[in-house]
Amino acid sequence: AKTGTRNSFQFYVASVDQEMRARKKLEKDLNIALQKNQFYLVYQPQVNLETGRVIGAEALIRWQHPERGLVPPDDFIPLAELNGRIVPIGEWVLDQACRQAAEWADQGTPLRIAVNLSAVQLRQDTIVDTVLSTLVRHQIPPGRLELEVTETSVMTNLEDAIGKLQQFKREGIQIAVDDFGTGYSSLTYLKRMPVQHLKIDKQFVRDLLVNEEDTRIANTIIDLGKSLNLSVIAEGVETAEQEYYLQQRGCQLAQGYYFSKPLPAGEFQSFVAKFHGK
Ligand code: C2E
Ligand code: CA
Ligand code: CA
Ligand code: CA
Repeated sequence: AKTGTRNSFQFYVASVDQEMRARKKLEKDLNIALQKNQFYLVYQPQVNLETGRVIGAEALIRWQHPERGLVPPDDFIPLAELNGRIVPIGEWVLDQACRQAAEWADQGTPLRIAVNLSAVQLRQDTIVDTVLSTLVRHQIPPGRLELEVTETSVMTNLEDAIGKLQQFKREGIQIAVDDFGTGYSSLTYLKRMPVQHLKIDKQFVRDLLVNEEDTRIANTIIDLGKSLNLSVIAEGVETAEQEYYLQQRGCQLAQGYYFSKPLPAGEFQSFVAKFHGK
């Protein structure tokens, strides 16, 4: 038993060491990924459930790693937030998404573009200027940009974050609270937050018609949106039943695999045309 214990201890040390080295390597690769053009964006359609029209798209980052293949954002965004790389990466996402929105508008499809804003980006003093100059550079009307922020990124930096969200609002930029209901939030603060949209997290949508608690949570968010005059968008809609339920219950917007997976830029417009029956 003694040797067994020691062996498993050594095994443990070795695997932790290995894991740490793999992490360091990933971090090193992450630091050069931008200059090596390894990132690209995909776009997930957002659908108005009343009209059945695509009203916009959420831009989502992808990392094509030369050896690992596609690395999911959940594996590298937290790392990029820790080491600060999220700032230049986030600027690149914003620029790329606005460039794409301008191109779609030029080709007769003026859609709203939603971009995820990390807590680290929101804490930058220059963030408002960065966003505004990106819009000017691509000649995008501010009302066509939506920034997705999480409750937690606002709550952990409340006064400063509210000040910046107010500046965005003054400029006409829209703000959505992402992953609503999963972080720590308070209704008192939500009332003070200058936001226009609540996003129901996919964890509540997945079992919407199976799990009564999830049904009640989704209902509560929809009702909250109504009483605070915020539009509500459900993410992770995968079935016709979920879509029907949300639409009947008064949720205005939705996105999810039921409509479309996030698409490369080149496939997006033809999807929209087909979806609209053209
Ligand atoms: P999120 O912002 O909550 O994005 C929703 C995630 O759900 C996306 O995962 C999307 O591809 C996925 N999804 C969409 N429809 C469905 C569906 O019907 N079923 C299921 N199961 N999933 C669906 P993705 O693209 O892997 O992104 C994961 C997270 O990474 C995002 O969560 C966001 O927090 C972060 N992220 C992605 N792109 C960016 C970015 O450009 N900047 C920042 N700061 N974060 C990003
Ligand atoms: Ca999002
Ligand atoms: Ca989410
Ligand atoms: Ca998220």
